[in-house]
Amino acid sequence: MLKNYFKNTWEGLYTILLGMKITWKHLFVPAVTIQYPEERVPMVERARNRLFVNMDDCIGCKQCETACPVNCIEIDTVKAVPADGARLTSNGKKKALWVTKFEIDIAKCCYCQLCVFPCPTECIVMTDVYEFSEFDRDDLNYNFASLTETEIEEKNENFEKFQAEKEAQKIAAAKAKAEAAAKKKAEEEEAKKEETKTEDTESDQSQDAPDPENNNEKPKE
Ligand code: SF4
Ligand code: SF4
Repeated sequence: MLKNYFKNTWEGLYTILLGMKITWKHLFVPAVTIQYPEERVPMVERARNRLFVNMDDCIGCKQCETACPVNCIEIDTVKAVPADGARLTSNGKKKALWVTKFEIDIAKCCYCQLCVFPCPTECIVMTDVYEFSEFDRDDLNYNFASLTETEIEEKNENFEKFQAEKEAQKIAAAKAKAEAAAKKKAEEEEAKKEETKTEDTESDQSQDAPDPENNNEKPKE
């Protein structure tokens, strides 16, 4: 009976000590936990998190939009007109378009990074920002376009005006060309008529004139 009592006591103590083995072990090694959110583990270099677009370098080529497998990028552009002047990106590419809309619905994004690789100006990048949850889903639709509504309207109007002027110039040039062709044709026809008239007169004159070799006219008595 007493033997059983000591046996059970020892087993109880032994299992407690065994259970505390890992706890004891970790009491004497440096802690690996951090005090989040005060402390944060830095992201690895190629981590895929929230996207960012540097609009100063975006040329509106839409290659990122085309590459996206879930269609979460939407881009609208309008052509720049000569009056807008030359605009270049930081790596010297010409900006021939105004980007009037550049939205990424990050709620749909699967962080595949396929939009990043084809960008010719490297202006769309993955950042190390991974905490961007929102209460409202619409707040996850990021708008990167930097133009205001008024500026967008202005750019669209400028382009429409430019197109209309170009079209008018084209019509005027075609009209001038047609007029020149008609004038040339009329001149040619006039010249042809003159030529025919001269030929007819010459032929009439040659018929009226006496033939010196075959002159049968009797001399006057
Ligand atoms: S990371 Fe992938 S899913 Fe997200 S926007 Fe880019 S291409 Fe689309
Ligand atoms: S691929 Fe780059 S330059 Fe082209 S539209 Fe996308 S972000 Fe802009």
